[in-house]
Order: sequence, then C-alpha cells, then structure tokens
Amino acid sequence: MIMKRILLLLFLLALAGCGRPASVKPDPTYRETNYAKNGPRFKVLLLYDDRAEAAHVQFDHQAIAFFNKLTVGEGFIVDSTQNLGAFTDEQLKQYSVIVALNAAPAADARPPFERYMESGGGWIGFHAAAYNDSRTGWPWYVRFLGGGVFKCNNWPPQPALLELDRKDHPVTRNLPESFVTPATEFYQWTPEPRENPDVEVLVSLSPRNFPIGLKDIVYGGDFPVVWTNRNYRMLYINMGHGDEQFSDATEQLLFVNALRWIVSRDPDGNPLDK
Ligand code: ZN
Repeated sequence: MIMKRILLLLFLLALAGCGRPASVKPDPTYRETNYAKNGPRFKVLLLYDDRAEAAHVQFDHQAIAFFNKLTVGEGFIVDSTQNLGAFTDEQLKQYSVIVALNAAPAADARPPFERYMESGGGWIGFHAAAYNDSRTGWPWYVRFLGGGVFKCNNWPPQPALLELDRKDHPVTRNLPESFVTPATEFYQWTPEPRENPDVEVLVSLSPRNFPIGLKDIVYGGDFPVVWTNRNYRMLYINMGHGDEQFSDATEQLLFVNALRWIVSRDPDGNPLDK
C-alpha cells in the first residue's frame, strides 16, 4: 500500500514537471490575456448603399451582420450608415477605420474623407468601393486606390483560385498559400496597381484560372485581389459580390486579419494593445 502511494507520488511529481523543463526560456512575446479590458477598444464605421446593385446589397447586409457579430462582448463598436454625403471631420475622427461596403463617399463628403485619410485615418474597401471610371471625377480617390481605373471583369461571378503574393504579411500570415474563394466578380484595373511602387499586392487571382468567365471572358492580365497603398492606412479587398462570401472560413479569416491590421496601425496607438 505504501509502495503504491510512493509510486503514485512519484508519478504525480513527474507529471507536474512535464511541459516546463527548467531549460525552456519564457517566450518574450507572451502576454497575459487581458480579459479585464472594460469598454470598447475602437470604433468602426460601415458605409453601404441599398440603392446599389442587388448582389452588392446582399454582400453588404451579410458584412454588416459579420462585423457586428465580431463586436460580441463589446470589444469594439460598429456604426453603419447609408448617408454617404453627410460626414464632418469631427464625425470621422472618432473612427479607427471606415469599412466601405461597395460604397464611396458622395461629393459633399469627399473633402472630409480626404482629410481623414491624409491625417492617418483607416479604410478597408470591398469590391465596388474602388470602382471608378471616367465619370467618377475624383482624381484624389484614384491616387488613393493606387492609380487603377476599372478595366474589365469576369461574368458571371464564380469561384476562383487565389494565390498569396505575400505570406508573411499580417493580413495573410495564417492563410493557405493558395485557396479557392466562393463565387465572386473580379475586377481588373488599368494601369495595373502593381506597377505603382507604393502599392503592395498581397493576394492575386491565379493565372491558372484563365480563361475566366462564360459571358464576359478574361483571358489574362494581372488581377490583384487584395492590396494596400503604403501612403495610407488602407486595404482594398476585391470580394464583395453576392451572398457566398461569408460561407468560407478562409475568407472570413482574411476579413478579420484585415480589420486587425488596419486598426493596429492607428496613429493614436494600437487599440489592440490597450
Ligand atoms: Zn459586383
């Protein structure tokens, strides 16, 4: 009996030593989980427009639900508006990031939006948020996006193989090197954003998709899908068409990474470090 107890004691002592041998140094990046954080860390403003193309409105409403779900526990605050022409500098200043769901500021709101971005504001634009052509008449916005004007698209929307251009970037670091995205419409731009030295492309459509489309067929060319213009705290994401984007875990992870990355570079300090 005593022998059994000694053996049990030795066994428990061995277990207690498991996993933390004396030679292992503490991870210098380790931080205690800060469960005790009270109150929201930052604010997000979602822009959308129910007058947009039906498939864009479908995406927008799913995106509003997605971002609101991420606020569980009041980690951050999400406001949303369809009033695209009514921003003041003071209103925009309170947001760490503006998430543009297939929408861009209307004419009256362009100057405050420019001032917001030029002074370190954050922006994540989905799909048609970057659409611009000869009628747009907003040269600053085209420069902000990296210089590209809409050139063409595949039609109908379909799944496609994407490839990472950067594997070590915070937006892509835990994504597969290539993955199939649910059905969407991909835009091609001219000039190609990649030609701009200030643009960093993070994800692209794989050339293995070509030809892509059944009605509107694209046979080749550069198709950046996610990129940033290093002159701004901004990220463009081509996804944003139809009701399939939030059915895919890889894409949801990409969207969360995007939000974390843009917010983490807030000039007032990283709210995720508070
Ligand atoms: Zn579309």
